[in-house]
Amino acid sequence: MTDCIFCKIVQGEIPCEKVYKDENVMAFLDIHPVNPGHILVVPKKHVVDFVSLDDATLASVVSVAKKVGAAVMRGAGAQGVNVMINNGAVAGQVVFHLHVHVVPRFEGDGFKLWPGKEYAAGEAGVMAQKIRVELSV
Ligand code: 5GP
Ligand code: ZN
Repeated sequence: MTDCIFCKIVQGEIPCEKVYKDENVMAFLDIHPVNPGHILVVPKKHVVDFVSLDDATLASVVSVAKKVGAAVMRGAGAQGVNVMINNGAVAGQVVFHLHVHVVPRFEGDGFKLWPGKEYAAGEAGVMAQKIRVELSV
């Protein structure tokens, strides 16, 4: 895809700090890290987002994210990692070439996860049923 920043990184047209590459997958430092060592794992082929990704490529990307997660913990000295995918603009996706964030976490680093909401009475069952219907088609 000609106008995709991550395709350009994969093709070497834009520089990056690459940490991993194989036949299908590449991983490099995020240019604006949550914490130092924040990695993006991408399929080499252009796929817009998580829900568009074929299962075989997903398996390759997740397998690399797992390896990268362990390496980030050792290499960056992190105590944990968050492994995240933003799917869609409303979910914070800015670059529309699928990527998995592997974010190293350190005690007291200030990165906040989501606050939980409450379901109204009966709402959880109705919502679960809507999703079950979609999963069965
Ligand atoms: P998103 O919000 O789409 O899930 O995340 C996009 C990520 O890509 C951001 O964390 C951003 O810092 C990173 N990013 C954007 N442009 C570049 C770039 O040119 N090089 C690198 N290495 N990372 C980038
Ligand atoms: Zn792309």
